[in-house]
Amino acid sequence: MHPLKRLNPFPVHPLRRQVKEEAENRPGVYRFLGPRGEVLYVGKSVRVRTRLLSYFRHGVEGGKEVELMRVARAVRWEYLPTEFEALVRELRLIRALRPRFNVRHRRDRRYAWIRITREPAPRLVATRRPRSDGSLHFGPFPAPRRLTRLLSELAAEVGLRDCPAATPMFFSDQLDLLAPGRTPGCLRAELGSCPGPCAGLCDNRTYQEGVDEAQAFLEGRSHHILDDLAARMGEAAARRDFEGAARLRDRRDRLERLRSDVLEFGRFLRSLHFVYHPSTPDEAPLGEAPSTCVILRGQLRLTLPGPTPSLDPDEPAGRAVRHLLLEPPSPPHQRGAQDWEELFLLARWFRRRPEELTRTRPVESLLRTRPSPG
Ligand code: SF4
Repeated sequence: MHPLKRLNPFPVHPLRRQVKEEAENRPGVYRFLGPRGEVLYVGKSVRVRTRLLSYFRHGVEGGKEVELMRVARAVRWEYLPTEFEALVRELRLIRALRPRFNVRHRRDRRYAWIRITREPAPRLVATRRPRSDGSLHFGPFPAPRRLTRLLSELAAEVGLRDCPAATPMFFSDQLDLLAPGRTPGCLRAELGSCPGPCAGLCDNRTYQEGVDEAQAFLEGRSHHILDDLAARMGEAAARRDFEGAARLRDRRDRLERLRSDVLEFGRFLRSLHFVYHPSTPDEAPLGEAPSTCVILRGQLRLTLPGPTPSLDPDEPAGRAVRHLLLEPPSPPHQRGAQDWEELFLLARWFRRRPEELTRTRPVESLLRTRPSPG
């Protein structure tokens, strides 16, 4: 025997035979298990067999797949009718089982909300986690880098503070007249970009007007901030202060982009509300769709086998759909991280495959209308 053959550092993996004999090339989800039966890794593929066999090819020493094959003692898989359902099932399994090799899904929470805090002098803050303390949330949306800086700019435009939450506030209409005068906690009061509620330089109502303006801007109801920046830009140019005019133009562009990100992404996410017949890898025509997926507010809530053109509203499946449709939308803080992840997963799916939107229809079309009496 050739000496190199005896020294082969990659012997045939014991699980390879099982995969070769039993796995089929269909969409599905697979799991690798460790010595104690613990789930090490969850993955999905449109072709389970091909994907699983790829793990037994020699990878890069030190790479994730080689490492996984070293510790894996068993492999299990399940088939799903479509890639879409496999994708959602993969996400849900990863969230439920937290396998240690699924590093990809651990880089989560890349989305953010803008929060108008609920405090005596509210602030604009960037957050990855909505709160249930009565704060207002705008988003979620893909967080641009330097979101905190953008919010400072917006705060400066509407006259909101951006100092730490613990900074004591003293509105002028709440001041103890006998108390000594207070000094603002930072230069913003002097520069005129903050009305100075830390030093009793403004009353509560004036400050609240800035909060209302920020809210109206982020909801797309007011253009005042952008108009004001444009007017100041024109004034700067008339004074031949071209640098100042360029700075104002850039700020206006940044804030306009921020707002359109918030509004557009929100609109797109809210539009994920329909019945969807996902395509199969072999592109079955719509009439032969293998599943009917009920997606409500960006979440896969129900999957029915087959194309299911319509349901009797009095039958169990029809009643389940009716019940789901009657559920009120939950506020941001009541949706867990898993719900948001699923929503973003679905958003990515339809963004990358806009043609799949032609396989959707209104949720209401799933319920057969009852014949009118007589
Ligand atoms: S002036 Fe006072 S309230 Fe305004 S940002 Fe500075 S410390 Fe905060």
